[in-house]
Amino acid sequence: MEPQQNCPFCRIQAQEERSRSVYEDEWVVAFEDIHPQAPLHILIIPKRHVENLLGLEEEDVLLAGRMLLVASRIARERKVDRTGFRLVVNCNRDGGQTVGHLHLHLLGGRRMSWPPG
Ligand code: AMP
Ligand code: ZN
Repeated sequence: MEPQQNCPFCRIQAQEERSRSVYEDEWVVAFEDIHPQAPLHILIIPKRHVENLLGLEEEDVLLAGRMLLVASRIARERKVDRTGFRLVVNCNRDGGQTVGHLHLHLLGGRRMSWPPG
């Protein structure tokens, strides 16, 4: 899908809106969450606008894998690999999705509880 002018994450990846950038390549960008829920809270997004997990198609298999790989590399760089971390993808209303551009939350630096709220 084309970049959406009213999508905050499209604007961030196009550098039309400021963010605390952590990583960028041809397909994916990562930046600090503006309302961190843990000492480490980073969002990993595809540059291309995909509404959520349900918007992924067969041709996005490599993109989805790249998002996971980037998350694990950042976790190692930020030194939460040994202590542990959590990856979260919220989807639609019951999942608690508030921004309609696919994003992977990388959370770490504190003990997470289970089940999630
Ligand atoms: P979700 O509830 O899974 O859709 O998560 C959306 C996340 O995006 C929340 O954790 C917000 O704090 C975060 N967020 C929203 N706008 C921005 C922004 N402009 N820059 C960084 N993070 C943002
Ligand atoms: Zn978008």
